[in-house]
Amino acid sequence: MTLGDAVTRAEVVIVGAGHGGAQAALALRQNKFAGSILMIGEEPELPYERPPLSKDYLSGEKSFDRILIRPADFWAERGIEILTDARVVTVDPAAKTIGLEDGRVVAFDELVWATGGHARRLSCDGGDHVGVHSVRNRADVDRMISELAATTRVAVIGGGYIGLEAAAVLVKLGKQVTVLEAQDRVLARVAGVTLSRLYEAEHRAHGVDMRLGVQVRCIEGADGRATGVRLMDGGFVAAEMVIVGIGIVPAVEPLLAAGARGGNGVAVDEHGRTSLPHIWAIGDCALHANAFADGLPIRLESVQNANDMATTVAKAITGQPAPYHAVPWFWSNQYDLKLQTVGLSAGHDEEVLRGDPAARSFSIVYLKQGRVVAIDAVNAVKDFVQGKALVAMGATADVAELGNSTIALRDLVARMPR
Ligand code: FAD
Repeated sequence: MTLGDAVTRAEVVIVGAGHGGAQAALALRQNKFAGSILMIGEEPELPYERPPLSKDYLSGEKSFDRILIRPADFWAERGIEILTDARVVTVDPAAKTIGLEDGRVVAFDELVWATGGHARRLSCDGGDHVGVHSVRNRADVDRMISELAATTRVAVIGGGYIGLEAAAVLVKLGKQVTVLEAQDRVLARVAGVTLSRLYEAEHRAHGVDMRLGVQVRCIEGADGRATGVRLMDGGFVAAEMVIVGIGIVPAVEPLLAAGARGGNGVAVDEHGRTSLPHIWAIGDCALHANAFADGLPIRLESVQNANDMATTVAKAITGQPAPYHAVPWFWSNQYDLKLQTVGLSAGHDEEVLRGDPAARSFSIVYLKQGRVVAIDAVNAVKDFVQGKALVAMGATADVAELGNSTIALRDLVARMPR
């Protein structure tokens, strides 16, 4: 495998050197795959952890070296070749080749597509002003950090996890932060109303100006540099820095152009197989039927999902197929609140509060037609760990007992019929 040749070849080619790509390479070796592995990523860096970008990398508490998934020599020692700064733009399923932006061609026996997504950009005027930032890659965050010294006011567009984490870091760094959320509550896509209200109150208590139900008209600027956000109602939020946290667009164009089934992501089966032969997809870009979403096709954006799908695909490629059926989980750190969430709360019809938010340790259990579908545990590791089994079995626990934090979730699990 020589990258200078006209056509390079590797038995397994992984496109995307992020969480899923890195884990796919690791899991192949763990499953005794002895063939050649080439991982291709468009970023200049070796695989690194993305979650710290809106947390302790942004705050300066962690250096880049500390967020590398593995040190450089780790990959070399395992014969995993990594090509950085290389963007894959075409896929030819019949020839079993991919084409890079610079014209190089790489042939594969098996192709693992692990490209995540690109930050969704503002479509309004001024979205490309200097000072307007996404939080997806190291380069995005390095740009933000380089502007911090000259920044007093920050507007965060989007009250999802990433926007709120960035808001928490920036207000701690002494910036005046305004969060602009179009819905009537933050975290509307991922959590219930109780958690949303608690997080809104937490941010306000730290001095964040939290504006709900507001629509952005445009980013205003002077000499190409952002000066603030103009709202649809005419209001204006002055800001030298604007952070846009409005989700991602899955990076699947080359695969869809090659004929793979999909739309909002590329469709895969329970082993991560796309509709194209010998082509697999994992992580944020993979649209899969998830048992915890009533079997509906969804994309999950979490490290857990990227890692577990990668392991699933590695097993299938090495002839030990085991379908993907992992319980989704996720975490978010804001201020001293460490949220761990298990399951998917979308579509829940009941919320049960365990513990006391004022004591800064509590959980919210989500039920759907009497079954436990998700738990948001805030500074409550035991509930997260013990409650996972309740979510996995879709348990029908007693609401009064669920709400009684003196009863360990482990005890409720023990009583469930097997
Ligand atoms: P990624 O890790 O995004 O990797 C994809 C890689 O592929 C990228 O490097 C991309 O540049 C590259 N690529 C894309 N297209 C091409 C191409 N055509 N050619 C070559 N390379 C390409 N999850 C959690 O569970 N907990 C958290 O607290 C959390 N916090 C987060 C905070 C931030 C700021 C962000 C951005 C994400 C966070 N996530 C968190 C989500 C988590 O990081 C993602 O779900 C995870 O990284 C998905 O892994 P992936 O391999 O699918 O994609």
